[in-house]
Amino acid sequence: MANGKINVQTENIFPIIKKFLYSDNEIFLRELVSNAVDATQKLKALSSMGEAKGDLGDLKIEVEVDKSAKTITIKDKGIGMTAEEIEKYITQIAFSGAEEFVNKYKDKVDKNVVIGHFGLGFYSAFMVAKRVEIYSLSFKEGAQAVRWECDGSPEYTLETISNRTQRGTNIILHIADDCEEYLENHKIEGLLTKYCKFLPVEIKFGTRKTWEKPEVKEGENAEDVKEVEKEVDNIINNPTPAWTRKPADLKDEDYKAFYRELYPMQFDEPLFHIHLNVDYPFNLTGILYFPKLTNKLEMPKDRIQLYCNQVFVTDNVENIVPDFLTLLRGVIDSPDIPLNVSRSYLQADGNVKKISSHITKKVADKLEEMFKNNREEFEKKWDDIKIFVQYGMISDEKFYERAAKFALLKNADGKYFTLEEYEQHIKPLQTDKNNKLVYLYATNVAEQHAYIDAAKNRGYDVLLMETMLDPHFINHMESKLKDASFVRVDADTVDKLVNKEDNTISKLTDEEQKQIQPVIEEVVDKEQFSVKFENLSEQDAPMLITRPEFMRRMKDMNQLGGGGMSFYGSMPDMYNLVVNANHPLITRILKEGDKEKQTSLARQATDLALLSQGLLKGEKLTAFIKRSVELI
Ligand code: ADP
Repeated sequence: MANGKINVQTENIFPIIKKFLYSDNEIFLRELVSNAVDATQKLKALSSMGEAKGDLGDLKIEVEVDKSAKTITIKDKGIGMTAEEIEKYITQIAFSGAEEFVNKYKDKVDKNVVIGHFGLGFYSAFMVAKRVEIYSLSFKEGAQAVRWECDGSPEYTLETISNRTQRGTNIILHIADDCEEYLENHKIEGLLTKYCKFLPVEIKFGTRKTWEKPEVKEGENAEDVKEVEKEVDNIINNPTPAWTRKPADLKDEDYKAFYRELYPMQFDEPLFHIHLNVDYPFNLTGILYFPKLTNKLEMPKDRIQLYCNQVFVTDNVENIVPDFLTLLRGVIDSPDIPLNVSRSYLQADGNVKKISSHITKKVADKLEEMFKNNREEFEKKWDDIKIFVQYGMISDEKFYERAAKFALLKNADGKYFTLEEYEQHIKPLQTDKNNKLVYLYATNVAEQHAYIDAAKNRGYDVLLMETMLDPHFINHMESKLKDASFVRVDADTVDKLVNKEDNTISKLTDEEQKQIQPVIEEVVDKEQFSVKFENLSEQDAPMLITRPEFMRRMKDMNQLGGGGMSFYGSMPDMYNLVVNANHPLITRILKEGDKEKQTSLARQATDLALLSQGLLKGEKLTAFIKRSVELI
């Protein structure tokens, strides 16, 4: 028996570790189980090199909770440690890591620093335990079993023991009084499921009951053999999750099954997946899924999960995955991401940046491949993936360049075009007098029906831009495309939507327009409508309501919460009341000698225009109906 003193300057290291990391103390289990996994993997490696002799036997790791003894035990059958190794790895190196950590961070408040970075993995046990014991037997031939014990002070005990014959290590945590929640089975099972679900060595936590049919013996009828209850090991993890396997070995079904394994509460199938597999200039594997986004509330847990050699690290992948891909689901596993440091450090890390741009590239590759290989299928999926692609194009220049080849625009007839195709499609008719291309769009087919119709009759094409992101996408496209502007179909009269040379002759003289203007202004709210004359054709409506593109966008932006726009937000909705100077009805209003009749006609004509826009409501609508009946 040897009593030792850990050689450190800081006397009471554990209270500091404990306090500092309190909020995250549950990770002790992840650290200890991954040490057990490492020890097991090392043994397998040594065995395959012929350095560990004999049959390795069952290598399962076991976690046990003993509520009455107030202990948690983690058992592995890995390489084990000799007394010298414990001395070296546990008391010297690991402890100095702990000390470095404390010295560096005791005065700081950055709770994001995680201890593994400092080789502090083992000592995280003291976040929940008041005393820790190690029982270990090294795989080395003739090794002596040892016991180590420490209560969190720099003093420790190390002795050889004779009653251990099992190769490997048991770590026994004597749980501190204020951490007794960890003595609940469901708590530990929950943590194992969270952090250890895909660790590469089987992890057993207790047993569970299951029903099984015994073997059918000779002379027995299979139907007569009853299922019997059986107790089996409760294995927490899947040691070979899909992302660790070769894409060639996996079928579509396997990917879907893995999706369900990752997100048991998700019932929708993913649209498609991308299997990531990089080994240069960094290591990265993973599977990303494009989910079908629905309007119902998304499970906050169902996000991309980040693993480091199959150990769960986080599902907060901000700054690692490009923003627009945080909507995706799946798994990324990389030993090269410095997982155990703060987020601000992560952002600046070169590897993280490379990984981020690599993932972006892979996503673009996959989309482009789908587009090229089967355009029809791609179009079917487009409405669902549109949000990812547009978000990516807006936020990531590189992705824009790639996506410009396969991003689609959908028109009001449900036809899809690439950007290039669409430009060619509208060029002949929708080029204005300044040689600018005018992209016409609608945001609501039902509400803007009359305008869409008018534009189509003129031979124009109208795009559908119905989603929340579309206004941003439009802004972005205008900044990207040279000589192009987007105009909503109701922004102006159909003749003015695409500004061509104005060559229609007016039936009304300036003098006559001045005469009729006050008559019309009298019947509408002047604050809201500005009366304008235009020389439309006789077939067009006598009056029309339009909403100038600029004003509408300002109002829309304000609604979406664009800061600093409150000036526009507080303004009433502004419309143009366009009077068709060439329409016979307008001439009739002008020529009407009876003042009362003239006002009534003007009111009827404006109300009709308002009605077609859904702007005629309440009292005014009732009055309109009454007046119409009288006129009939
Ligand atoms: P890290 O795992 O980051 O090296 P730890 O403090 O978790 O730091 O562990 C320190 C060292 O102790 C390990 O590198 C390993 O050599 C040894 N060790 C810890 N747990 C075990 C175990 N279960 N079996 C064998 N060796 C172990």
